[in-house]
Amino acid sequence: MPELFVAGQWRSAAAGGTRDVVNPFDAQVFAVVDEAAAEDAEAAVLAARTAFDDGPWARTPVAERAALLDRVADLLQRDREEIARTETLDTGKTLAESRIDVDDVTAVFRYYAREGVVEVDRTVDVGRPEVHSRVVHHPVGVCTLIAPWNYPLLQISWKVAPALVAGNTVVLKPSEVTPLTTVHLVKLLEEAGAPPGVVNLVLGAGGAVGPALTSHPAVDLVSFTGGLATGRSIAKVAADTVKRVTVELGGKNPNIVFADVDLDVAVDTVLTGVFLHSGQVCSAGTRLIVEESIADDLVAGVVERARRIRFGNGLEEGVESGPLVSAQHREKVEGYVALGLEEGARLLTGGRRPDAPDLQRGFFLEPTVFDGCDRSMRIVQEETFGPILTVERFRTEEEAVFLGNDTTYGLAGAVQTLDVDRGERVAAALRHGTVWINDFGPYVPEAEWGGQRMSGNGRELGPAGLAEYRETKHVWRTTRPAAPGWFQG
Ligand code: NAD
Repeated sequence: MPELFVAGQWRSAAAGGTRDVVNPFDAQVFAVVDEAAAEDAEAAVLAARTAFDDGPWARTPVAERAALLDRVADLLQRDREEIARTETLDTGKTLAESRIDVDDVTAVFRYYAREGVVEVDRTVDVGRPEVHSRVVHHPVGVCTLIAPWNYPLLQISWKVAPALVAGNTVVLKPSEVTPLTTVHLVKLLEEAGAPPGVVNLVLGAGGAVGPALTSHPAVDLVSFTGGLATGRSIAKVAADTVKRVTVELGGKNPNIVFADVDLDVAVDTVLTGVFLHSGQVCSAGTRLIVEESIADDLVAGVVERARRIRFGNGLEEGVESGPLVSAQHREKVEGYVALGLEEGARLLTGGRRPDAPDLQRGFFLEPTVFDGCDRSMRIVQEETFGPILTVERFRTEEEAVFLGNDTTYGLAGAVQTLDVDRGERVAAALRHGTVWINDFGPYVPEAEWGGQRMSGNGRELGPAGLAEYRETKHVWRTTRPAAPGWFQG
């Protein structure tokens, strides 16, 4: 069955392009999908435009649009196991993680089914009884939704659920590396009753289909999640036609640990924060900033636990970590290992491919810990997007906060301390979109997610994640029309 979806029809790429989809665990091709070119992308944009301008969706009562989201949530749960397996094959992450992803995606659809019907229009008292002034909301129009490969289904769902409940039409563009669960999602949207043209799907390389999706005058909004360089270029391209643009970019996320913590809990929190999904998490806690008096003990604990992480095929029970997503990405991360050594950081563990015979074909890299790091190093400042932890030490709270804000990124950060006041002070001072106190990683659909500074602009999730997809309009009605009488001639 073809994998591009345009105007309610499944079709192949006009030029016949295809792409191999590779399992990162064994480097084997396990699926072949259609690969769009610019002409397919343009067709999808125009289908979304027609559906928005002429179709019923934007004018469908919001309760019906919300009901569609609820049906999708039911279908996601019906297909939970199949989707989770596909996500694991595509990304290499463990089945346990993929199942959580499907449940989180379900929760996002359910949340926006509820939040979408909450009344946000308001009246404004302008002090004149003959004037009825109100602020109303409309869908923005045609939305291009572009997602990365690390959380393929999750990231696209943060966009598609609010966009649809707000009455927009959409063109989805998953990463070419991990397209399969988005294809499944679009099938569920079709089954749930999305009218033709409301949801369109384009698979393909960003460089080939991206320009049509982000610069076309028929597109009103671009919501992008991915790397800084891509986000920057998309924002520039979209500026020519003054589109609404949201960019959710990378992070270099500090995990600040004070000496008063329970050491075992802190070790586990640091370990999970950085090595979950092999560090391929935008909010991964890759930058450990630890109070000097416990630093040696904490780091020794992290190193010891990191060496015990069980690698393997994400589909198998008991496996705790999969490979990196591709050979190319592993090479990039290995480049950062080499850079760390060059910069004089002390490699305490990892930095190499594991020896186990069953891991030789996959794109594995051992969890890596660099001690003796400082803020001048590129491995401390740049997003490595792999299993690399850098360690810096601090003496004072002031210094910890300074270091915690000391990159160009501002996605997420954490502070571990049993001193409640200090935890709150540090959380208030950190310039990141999410801050955890005594935790690392949790999020919920009800609370906004997004970056400050060069981690992006705009927000996903929560009410603000819906507001991105709503146009605001002020309607002023004079009930007793009278000549303004400004000019006397
Ligand atoms: P990427 O920027 O390489 O690609 C992201 C998406 O953009 C892909 O679908 C890609 O095909 C597409 N793309 C590439 N060039 C394009 C162009 N010129 N026009 C339009 N689309 C184009 O990122 P990636 O490697 O897939 O993902 C990793 C990055 O994503 C990391 O930096 C990570 O931090 C970030 N990320 C951020 C968040 C967040 O919430 N802030 C969440 C997940 C991932």
